[in-house]
Parts: sequence; structure tokens; C-alpha cells
Amino acid sequence: MGGVEGKVVAITGAGSGIGEATAELLAERGAKVVIADLDRQEEKAKDVVATTGGLFVACDVTDPEQVITAVDAAKELGPVRVLVNCAGIGWPQRTIGKDGQYSSAHDLGIFTKVIQINLIGTFNCIRLAATAMSQTEPLDEFGERGAIVNTASVAAYDGQIGQAAYSASKAGIVGMTLTVARDLAVSGIRVNTIAPGFIDTPMVAYRFSTPDGDIDEARRDEVFADRASGTVLKRIGQPIDIALAMLYLASGASSFMTGQIVRPNGGMVMP
Ligand code: NAD
Repeated sequence: MGGVEGKVVAITGAGSGIGEATAELLAERGAKVVIADLDRQEEKAKDVVATTGGLFVACDVTDPEQVITAVDAAKELGPVRVLVNCAGIGWPQRTIGKDGQYSSAHDLGIFTKVIQINLIGTFNCIRLAATAMSQTEPLDEFGERGAIVNTASVAAYDGQIGQAAYSASKAGIVGMTLTVARDLAVSGIRVNTIAPGFIDTPMVAYRFSTPDGDIDEARRDEVFADRASGTVLKRIGQPIDIALAMLYLASGASSFMTGQIVRPNGGMVMP
């Protein structure tokens, strides 16, 4: 299947963090990138559009019509060869409250929303992008047409306090990876999942944000040092660390890999 040069790559959640770094790296390697993110991220995504020369498409991954619009926009650029699912949210809450009241138990609306975006949204993008990929011409003698890379998390295996919904959503992605890879093998589409450890992106900033939205730098240093100490490499990850793994799984360098979970996490052992 070769590298990603000249290939059309759709990346969800590409307006920020890991998705943004992946869009930048893949564009640098010659891919034509479609930056699919929420319409409210369009302003923020202007930088990634500028650096990648990519196309921004407003797309909520939970909405089938919007995902079809994004896939169709990608098809305008050429045969869709790669889907990278990065869109996701974290919304921590403990399973029960402290006051013994039923009303303070975990909000089911929040639980549902996290599953809806992280798990069902990922599957929604897989099923629709894979449909488009299945109609393309094979790229090599093995019949490969495309590659899909999903984003789970260390929390799929080792969720922290307050991560019930997030862990369940990411474990769902891990759980479906092999099954979907089996479903799509006949169409020449490989499916793998990356389960990152702690990565320095806007998603983790709630841990050290002040109530008015500023960053408490001392607290940030403390959180980062704590997370770094839980890895054997003694550092937290940067978005580029995950983007490099995305590049590998998106390209022909991983042509014998499907149904796998890759875990770039610095050798993390969660406390
Ligand atoms: P981020 O908040 O920087 O980026 C997430 C992006 O997803 C945002 O641009 C956001 O607008 C987009 N998004 C959210 N809901 C969406 C929806 N319904 N439709 C389309 N786009 C939507 O966070 P990040 O850290 O770059 O996260 C990327 C992925 O990596 C997520 O799936 C996250 O769960 C996963 N992850 C992150 C870490 C970490 O430590 N940062 C660790 C493990 C896994």
C-alpha cells in the first residue's frame, strides 16, 4: 500500500491535540487531509488548515448525515484511503455522590454522551468511511484498499477514579477492533487501534484549569510530573508521539497488521 503520499486521509477531531498533530504529520508526508471536527472548532482549526493545506469539514461524528457529508467531501479529493478516528471527549464523574442521595449518582446523560461520541461516533465513522473505501480500486497484490486507525486510551484497561464512562467507551473501541477488522478484511481494509497513555493536549487541561479557564501552571507541572513518574520512560507523551504511531498504522509499513491494539504510553503503570 506504500506510504501516505498522495492519499486522501480523513481525520476526525483534527482541530486539536492528537488529531491536529496527526493531520500535520500526514500532510507533511504528502497526504491530502480532511479535517473533520465540530463546527465550533472551525476557528481553532484554521491553523491546521493553513499548515496542512487540508480541507475543514464541519462534522459531528455522532450524526450520520454529517459524516456522509465529510466522506463525500473527502471523495471529491480522490479515493478515500485512510480514516483516523481521533474525536473524543472525557467527562469525569464518580459513580455515586457523597451525600447518599440517588440524585447525586452519576448522571446518566453524561454517561450516554461519552459513549455516544467516543464509541458510537467512532463506529459511525468506520461504517461510513469503510463503505466509501470498499468501492475504491485495490492498491496492491493483496487487495488492500485502505486503513482505519481508531483512538482508545490506557483507560480502556486501567481507568482512573471518575472515568467509568470514558473507560467503558474506550474499552468498547478495543473490543470491536478485531471484529471490525474481520468484517472489513474481505474489502481490503485494515483496522487497528491506538491506546495512548497520558498526552499533553487540551483534553487533559481540566486537571489544572482554574474556575475562570486559565491554566494553573504550578498545578500543571505537578500533574505532568506525577503522570511522568508513572511511566518507565519518566515522561508524559506529546501529540507527535501518537501521530507517529498513527502514520505507521495508516501506511503500508503496517500492511500485515490488522485487528491490533498499539499502546504508546511510555511503559505506563497507572497508580
Ligand atoms: P482534544 O480535546 O485536544 O481533541 C479532541 C477533538 O475531538 C476536539 O477537536 C473536539 O472538537 C473533537 N470532538 C469532540 N467531540 C466531537 C464530535 N462529536 N464530533 C467531532 N469531533 C469531536 O483531545 P485529544 O487529547 O487530542 O484527544 C484525541 C483522542 O485521543 C480522543 O479520542 C481521546 O479520548 C484520546 N486520548 C487522549 C489522551 C490524552 O491524554 N490526551 C489519552 C488517551 C486517549
